[in-house]
Amino acid sequence: MQVLINKTKLTLIQGDITKQATDAIVNAANSSLMGGGGVDGAIHRAGGPAILEECKKIVAQQGRLPTGKAVITTGGDLKAKYVIHTVGPVWHGGNRSEAALLASAYKESLALAVARGLKTVSFPSISTGAYGYPVDSAAAVALQTVVEFLRQKPPLQEVVFVLFDNRTCEVYMEALERLLSKST
Ligand code: ADP
Repeated sequence: MQVLINKTKLTLIQGDITKQATDAIVNAANSSLMGGGGVDGAIHRAGGPAILEECKKIVAQQGRLPTGKAVITTGGDLKAKYVIHTVGPVWHGGNRSEAALLASAYKESLALAVARGLKTVSFPSISTGAYGYPVDSAAAVALQTVVEFLRQKPPLQEVVFVLFDNRTCEVYMEALERLLSKST
């Protein structure tokens, strides 16, 4: 599924984000930046040790990465030149600013991509794996945040959501249809 928001393509596909050839792929990291399970583990495995090397330097310089923030490293052996590491919130039931923190993870990642002059970025479904964020709520926040960002006309060519499993992909597609029918 693909829509145009101003001049930026917003694309939803099912797939493996480690195979994406966008300028950057976003990693749903944890605050330690030391790798982990899920998409984080897959990115470090596919990208090789250069990514972890840079993550270690970042943590040595600035400490653990707070939830909702983002940093950028090389993409190592990946097709993507860069990995943007962000930390989504752990789901605690919805009353601990989870939505604002999830929105921040997307916004900070996009702002970092723009600041570095990147044109194409891929996102996974942040927080909906080990961090337990319900997919339907997360999809609404993720898409609303990205669409709002793109409506400010940043110089981005394409933002891709790469959804790993079929159900997540369907939930995101329905959420995007709902969002666009509401706001047009
Ligand atoms: P979090 O800790 O933020 O919840 P996870 O990695 O556990 O992160 O899960 C986030 C989402 O990433 C889940 O929907 C999971 O299925 C998905 N995922 C796992 N591996 C990949 C991959 N290689 N490409 C894209 N998405 C992936």
